[in-house]
Order: sequence, then structure tokens, then C-alpha cells
Amino acid sequence: MKVLVINCGSSSLKYQLLDMPKGDVVAKGICERIGIDGQLVHNNMETKTTWSIPMPTHGEAIMSVFKALTDTEVGVISDLSEIAAVGHRVLHGGEEITQSVVIDDHVIDVIDAHIPLGPLHNPANSLGIKECRKLLPDVPQVAVFDTAFHQTMPAKAYMYALPYEMYEKHHIRRYGFHGTSHMYVSRRCAEVDGRPFEDLKIITCHLGNGSSISAVDHGKCVDTTMGLTPLEGTPMGTRCGSIDPAIVKFIMDKENMTADQVDNLMNKKSGVMGISGISSDFRDLNAAANEGNERAKLALDMFCYSVKKYIGSYMAAMGGCDCIAFTAGVGENDSVVRAGAVEGLEFLGVKIDPEKNKVRGEETLISTPDSKVKVYIIPTNEELAIAQETMRLTAK
Ligand code: AMP
Repeated sequence: MKVLVINCGSSSLKYQLLDMPKGDVVAKGICERIGIDGQLVHNNMETKTTWSIPMPTHGEAIMSVFKALTDTEVGVISDLSEIAAVGHRVLHGGEEITQSVVIDDHVIDVIDAHIPLGPLHNPANSLGIKECRKLLPDVPQVAVFDTAFHQTMPAKAYMYALPYEMYEKHHIRRYGFHGTSHMYVSRRCAEVDGRPFEDLKIITCHLGNGSSISAVDHGKCVDTTMGLTPLEGTPMGTRCGSIDPAIVKFIMDKENMTADQVDNLMNKKSGVMGISGISSDFRDLNAAANEGNERAKLALDMFCYSVKKYIGSYMAAMGGCDCIAFTAGVGENDSVVRAGAVEGLEFLGVKIDPEKNKVRGEETLISTPDSKVKVYIIPTNEELAIAQETMRLTAK
């Protein structure tokens, strides 16, 4: 069956058509500058075609994706009826949605109700779903939520020690993000390891421009580093990660800044970019550190130290660990960061092989044969995970 995966951002729309259950990508592409002018880049896995098409709304963008998919020259299907189901990536389902769901009016209401918790993504996600339902009324649609995989966390992990009314009135709690990636990588890690997912304690390290780490105990997420928003946890490309909350008021007073300005500083000007003053890209940081730049080295050290502390704390939270999986741009490619993140953890049974760790972007084991904890690189594939969930919920 062919499954179309849609990932709507505020001014962009990414898509992939996958042949399931094999998971082969039949075509993929991106619509950009939605609401401004509009451009579609379509890749039928042989050639890339770029069209400038007016896209005042996501409606026109989706229409142009369907035209591209059925185009007589660069299309990959002869009729839209070949699309068996559509899977949508959705950011925030709050506490109401704990797993992937077949979309009905209620699901759309839930997505809309959580716009305050996902103001940049949920409106676009909702629009994309509504347009697809209009254009493909008889095709089942599934929503796969970034927050859903983390909904199994116990209250002791997701609550903040603020007055309880803050949770009751405003739903302030840890939600966690990158859930589709943590779900895919932890399941795949168990498959590669050859043991049942439900028997394992796995720590998944999604390290990219945004980074989060999750503890997956017997197939269920029990803790994760991102919180109410994707700002909490490790330092990231430009995000500060966890800091003393009192710093916010301190900076407002000292720098005469508004709350919004400090929010912008913490999200856009901090992290490894803020510390190094060079770049948010780990390739640039490694290059600068190799040339002796002390601040680039400090940024990398801080990042690795933070990841290591979370790995140690999640081992404590789960009472052990069978596998650690590194994924996403940095986790899959950066051997220096991987080595730094587990350096000194031999006493906890974690030992990586420096030779095996030289690998980039490959699904592979990088721990030594005598390492009690198996350490893997598992490239993430969120589109495939969404297509798998869509197939699971819609295949007859
Ligand atoms: P992601 O957010 O998962 O797309 O990851 C993006 C980040 O991965 C980039 O900002 C880079 O810092 C990092 N990255 C990509 N390739 C490499 C590489 N070969 N070595 C180190 N870091 C890399």
C-alpha cells in the first residue's frame, strides 16, 4: 500500500510517498514560502523538479503536491486513488492523545485546543489535515503526535514542583518532544539487538540541532529531557537547555529586557552557538576546537557533559540500562560527541570501541564485546515511523 506522509510547518510542507510495508520512498518533496509566494521541489527519486506556484495557503500547497505526484512526466502514480492512507506529523496532543490515532472531527478539535502549547506547529498541522480531508475525503488519515510516545511517563517524572494549580489551570508539566524519533529508534534498537522491545531498558539520545534524551523502560517512555517546551534539557544548537529559572528575572533586571526578549535570547542566541560565538553547527565547532578555539571546545565539553549526566540519571531512574542509542544529525555523525558523552562511564558498564565509533550515519554497534551496555548508532527515520503507524491503524 502507498502511504503519503505530510509534515506541515508554519510556512512549509514536507511530504513523502512510501511503499509499505517495505518502506521504500517512491517520491518526496517540499513546498516552501507558503503564504508568501510558493515553491515546490519534487523528487521522484530519479529527478528533482522545481515549480514556482502561488501558495497563499496550505490548501494550494497540498493541491500542488497532488498535482506533482500525478504529473504525467515526473509523477509517480497515475491516480490519487493509489494513495491508501495519509499520515500527518502533529506536534502537540497534550494529555488527551497518548498514541497515534485515526483522524476524526474530535482529533482535529484536540489539535486545535492545544494551539496554546504548540503555537507555531499545531495551527499548520491542523490546516494540513483539514485540506487533505477535503481533497481525499474517502482516504483514512492518521495523526502521529510528537508528544504521544512520552505520555507513559509517571507523574513523578512529568510534574514540575510548582503550585499544583499551575498544572490544573494551565496544564504546565513535562510533555517531551521528538517522540516519533524516540519511538522509532528505541524499537529499531531492540530489533537490531535481537531482544524483545518489552524486555529492554533503552536510553535514546536524539542529538541534532535540537536535542533530547529519553529513558525507555520495557517499551514505555518513563522520562525525557524536553519539557513543557523544547527549551529544556541539554544545551542545543541555539537553545540554552536547562538553567536556573531565576536567571530569567536576573537578566531581565540587569539587561533591561522584556520576558519576550529573554525568551528569544534563550531560544535563538544560546546553546553551543551562544557559548562558542562561532556556530550552532557541530561540524564548525569541531573544526574550530581542532584549531585550538577554547570557546568552541568549551561548548562541545558542556554539551557532552550534559548528555553524560542525563545518561547516568536515566540509568538510575530505570535501575540499569541494556542499550544506548545515538541518533539524529549529531548523534549519527559526530564520533567526538558520542565518545565524550560516554567517557568515564565504564564503571556503569558502558565501553565504546574507538575504531567502531569512527562510523558515520550507519546503523551499527559501537560498543566493545565486553561492554555490559550495548551502544548503537540508529539513524532516525520519522517519515517511516509515521508511515508504519499509519499502516498499522488503517491496513484492512
Ligand atoms: P538534525 O537537527 O538532526 O538535522 O541535525 C543537524 C545537526 O547535525 C547540524 O547542525 C550539525 O551540527 C550536525 N551534523 C550533521 N552532520 C554532521 C557531521 N558529519 N559531523 C558532526 N555534526 C554533524
